[in-house]
Amino acid sequence: MTLILSGNDYKYELEGVLKLFIPATQFNHVVSDKIECEADEDYIFARVKETEKHILLYIICKYGHFKTRQGTLLDKNKDTEKYDKELCLSRILYKILSEIMGIVPKWGVLTGIRPVKRVNTWLNEGCDKEEVYRRLQNEYLCSKEKCDIAFATAMTQKRILDALDKKSFSLYVSIPFCPTRCSYCSFISQTLDSGRKLIPEYIDKMCREIRHTALITKRLGLRLETVYFGGGTPTSLEAEQLGIIMKCIEHSFDMSGVKEYTVEAGRPDTITEAKLRTVKENGCTRISINPQSLNEKVLETIGRSHSVEQFYDSFELARKIGFSCINTDVIAGLPNDSVESFDDTIDKLIDLSPENYTVHTLSIKRAAVLNHGDKAVLKNPTDEMVEHATAKLFKNGYLPYYLYRQKNMVGNLENIGWSKAGHESLYNIYIMEEVQTIIAIGAGASTKLVDHPNRLERVFNYKFPLEYNKHFDLMISRKDIIEEFYGRSEKE
Ligand code: SF4
Repeated sequence: MTLILSGNDYKYELEGVLKLFIPATQFNHVVSDKIECEADEDYIFARVKETEKHILLYIICKYGHFKTRQGTLLDKNKDTEKYDKELCLSRILYKILSEIMGIVPKWGVLTGIRPVKRVNTWLNEGCDKEEVYRRLQNEYLCSKEKCDIAFATAMTQKRILDALDKKSFSLYVSIPFCPTRCSYCSFISQTLDSGRKLIPEYIDKMCREIRHTALITKRLGLRLETVYFGGGTPTSLEAEQLGIIMKCIEHSFDMSGVKEYTVEAGRPDTITEAKLRTVKENGCTRISINPQSLNEKVLETIGRSHSVEQFYDSFELARKIGFSCINTDVIAGLPNDSVESFDDTIDKLIDLSPENYTVHTLSIKRAAVLNHGDKAVLKNPTDEMVEHATAKLFKNGYLPYYLYRQKNMVGNLENIGWSKAGHESLYNIYIMEEVQTIIAIGAGASTKLVDHPNRLERVFNYKFPLEYNKHFDLMISRKDIIEEFYGRSEKE
């Protein structure tokens, strides 16, 4: 497929729309006022032509046997609302492809990763609910269902975002190790088989990074608000190793303002009583225990190497030890899963009454690998699964509190974090809405420096534990950027 851009440079936006309908396809880009393609080649010719009074926008699409031209003429004096040319072209392309494919993606042309951020911006600008819905539906062609979920999420977040302390920050601790690799994994994570020997040095270096970071934040007068251990699977480490890192954090930072401390104990096959007790004794207030599915056949297909029973045992153990905030993750669209079996997973987890409940959608790239091709992916009933989960969670008193999309998700859907009222994970909201500085420790993690309004800078750590251990001194010098960033903010 060739995308020909004439009088515009909306490559990114138009490709975003194309990918809703033709996922996992490579696009060539050409800037030209002419269509110069082979007779059998598929193409999109996107044209913007301006005169003193008018803007002509049109698209010529050739896809297989289908060829069409659609467009619009805007009057610069009258059509001020439709004046956003890239959105206008995106809508034309969306409508053409929707007709050809017979698919109506529910997020319309809202192709970005954080739909709720846009809603929050409009609310901050003074828009009311009606205006937010009108803009989502008219400008972005979102379905009513997606307007509901985006607006409800923004409402749950409001109290938390309004109370955000601008001098606060969160600490992310990366443990990029897992017992085995799940077949759908897209994270940077090393199996214990290959990574175990790196761990002692890795922990040692992490502790150095923690102490170094604590001194910087102290000098800057920043206050630690949340701590999040992610990965990988942090509970791949032994109890004693987890204790060393957590004690180092406790001794290095002022913990008096910490409101939330999460440890992802994602894989039930890594959970032991000793580990749960250690993390709890060292300040952890929230854990994640993730079955992904409660169907044994699905778990086997995705290589989770734990059973449904192990998940139940871990959950029960965590409750017995006294965890009062537990998150469980599920994934819609996994191979060998069906709407009925997914519904069953959702119901059984609701019966356990976790405080947080995250519903992910499998990414197309992963789904294609697992399902052997695009066709099987597009036939996958993920949309129905997510729709059922949404209805059941609303009905059982859960509220959506964060929402994000990854590129190429099956059905152009989303991941939604649900919560019982008052148990929303602050960290998840802060990172998704990009409203608070998150300082990262460890390999495969990146620091996100945020200043208000809307200044954002990233500092990357090395991706893999081996590089992290090896080039540690060079990497840690990048932490100086934190002081430079806040220094610049004060001057401005
Ligand atoms: S537990 Fe998570 S990070 Fe680890 S292999 Fe599975 S998907 Fe990847």
